[in-house]
Amino acid sequence: MEDMEKELIQTAEDHLLHTYNRHQIVLDKGEGVYLYDVSGKKYLDFGAGIAVFAFGYQKQEFNQAIKEQIDKLIHTSNLFYHVPLAEASKKLAEATGLDQVFFTNSGTEAIEGAIKIARKYAYLKNPEKQTEIISMNHSFHGRSLGALTVTGNQKYQEPFKPLIGGVVYADFNNLDSVKEKVNDNTCAIIVETVQGEGGIYPADKEFLQGIRQLCDEQDLVMICDEIQCGMGRTGTMFAYEGCEIKPDVVTCAKALGCGIPVGAVVASKRVGDAMVPGDHGTTYGGNPLAASAVNIVFDLFEQEKVLEHVKEIAPYLEQKLEELTEQYDCIVERRGKGLMQGLEFNKPVSEVVKKALENGLILVSAGTNIIRFVPPLVITKEHVDEMIDKLKASI
Ligand SMILES: *Cc1c(COP(=O)(O)O)cnc(C)c1O
Repeated sequence: MEDMEKELIQTAEDHLLHTYNRHQIVLDKGEGVYLYDVSGKKYLDFGAGIAVFAFGYQKQEFNQAIKEQIDKLIHTSNLFYHVPLAEASKKLAEATGLDQVFFTNSGTEAIEGAIKIARKYAYLKNPEKQTEIISMNHSFHGRSLGALTVTGNQKYQEPFKPLIGGVVYADFNNLDSVKEKVNDNTCAIIVETVQGEGGIYPADKEFLQGIRQLCDEQDLVMICDEIQCGMGRTGTMFAYEGCEIKPDVVTCAKALGCGIPVGAVVASKRVGDAMVPGDHGTTYGGNPLAASAVNIVFDLFEQEKVLEHVKEIAPYLEQKLEELTEQYDCIVERRGKGLMQGLEFNKPVSEVVKKALENGLILVSAGTNIIRFVPPLVITKEHVDEMIDKLKASI
């Protein structure tokens, strides 16, 4: 590594809170599905900034739209309307099949919003009861205290207790375990349509349909966390479409702004109407810059027929990963949906991820034993082949 790189890394380590074990690489620029570090080394990017950069880097129409908005108006506060906000809320409401959008700055905040909407909906029915939220074991919903509480992972939670109250945990893809947790006090069920950090586990169609029915029968709020699996990643705009259900509340972020920090919680009118002025707020959320990013993202999905492309390319990636699973004893299983795939190994994958970086391939793990594949949605067969070659050289 060059001295300049070492120095940059040292400067960062001296001044950053040590919440990450970063790779010893200083990234400099991106182009298409490739990233370059400061010494010019090229990396094929199958992480996309953790399922964010759907169109790849330096997408000209995207950059142009944002630049134009920067020169016009970046921020207003939510005390006013602005053009990008009206357009972006319409597009996102239509895409989710729901009605009312609250824009946030991150996925975590979208989860906080979802929790508050669910609690308020239940509060209006009965202020004394119905505060409990059922969430899933091995789920991931974010790091703030509310989102951390619905994240069913003791390791993340333990040092930060006490968390918020009223959250219980059921087993993912086990409808009976969810039913066992429902009582008079339940207000909502929150579930990732495809579990991401927990290891790339898609929800069974029957499981989600069962939760939908349960929520209908008991008047509970069904929340689907689509922060990672939404925005076209599984071949439909939102992964729950593939399970033929519609939740009452959807959380969205990551690829929603394709790099501009923006998230959203979207609710049906029935549930969303529980929220009134004063109940929730944000200074930045959905500001003109963020909303303009959301607008161009939805425009590009249409113009570039991204969903069709994902449906076409994903089976190829799946097939290539299946072949690897058969070839290598250390690979236990392939799982996933669309361009959200995981390979489970029988050992920690950190060494493979490290070797892959040396070989010019960026991969992200999910848990200790799973490599997650969340490339830009615009990858081609050639990129898949290149990735497989580099991965083979790294195992
Ligand atoms: C990334 C992620 C979050 C948290 O989003 P941030 O933008 O990092 O706050 C929540 N839920 C899921 C499923 C995620 O993948």
